[in-house]
Amino acid sequence: MKKYRHIFFDLDRTIWDFEKNARETFSEIYDKYELKQKGVPSLEKFTKTYKYHNDLLWSYYREGKIKKEVLSIKRFKLTLNDFGIDDVFLATNIADDYVTISPLKTNLFPHSREILEYLYPKYKLHLITNGFEEVQQKKIDVSDLRKYFKQIITSEEAGTKKPEKQIFLFALSKAKAKINESLMIGDDLRVDIMGAKSAGIDQVFVNYKNITHNNEITYEVNSLKELEDLL
Ligand SMILES: [Mg+2]
Repeated sequence: MKKYRHIFFDLDRTIWDFEKNARETFSEIYDKYELKQKGVPSLEKFTKTYKYHNDLLWSYYREGKIKKEVLSIKRFKLTLNDFGIDDVFLATNIADDYVTISPLKTNLFPHSREILEYLYPKYKLHLITNGFEEVQQKKIDVSDLRKYFKQIITSEEAGTKKPEKQIFLFALSKAKAKINESLMIGDDLRVDIMGAKSAGIDQVFVNYKNITHNNEITYEVNSLKELEDLL
């Protein structure tokens, strides 16, 4: 095993339980805006439809095809459209609420805090995240995660997003870390793992969903707890 000194973590869906936090947020939004009465049959249908549009728009955003302001509102506009609601004002209000409420949620994946407590006296920990700057910074503070990380690299600050090689090189430089003493830990095979690999950084794929794949990865775990055996 290499002697790692710097560990770069992804935030959303690796440490911060994005789906659970989003579900809680949507539940509040669904009630507040009386979406059932407006024609959205259930919270589950709303969430599923949103996820479809959000994933697609996020891929456009990562590719630089759309701006974050467009992504932020359009994902809700299209979701509402699918239920026959054509209301930009409502979509904008929901979009504002979503980015205000969701970062206040503090559900983390099992063993997150435990593993950060274990790792941070031994390694220099950093975050590399594609989320919106103000949203990610808020999440980090509200969930009391800031103390664990030396550097927080957001795609907005870097001017480039995962899986682009440049954001990883930017992160190495900001952390004053060498490639061969660095490790990237994330849940997204393409965005975190293949991205880090393209920059020459070793990787740990946190395969929560136990997906099958045939990519060559440095290490793979199914739970953050397993990191204790590796590091
Ligand atoms: Mg992630």
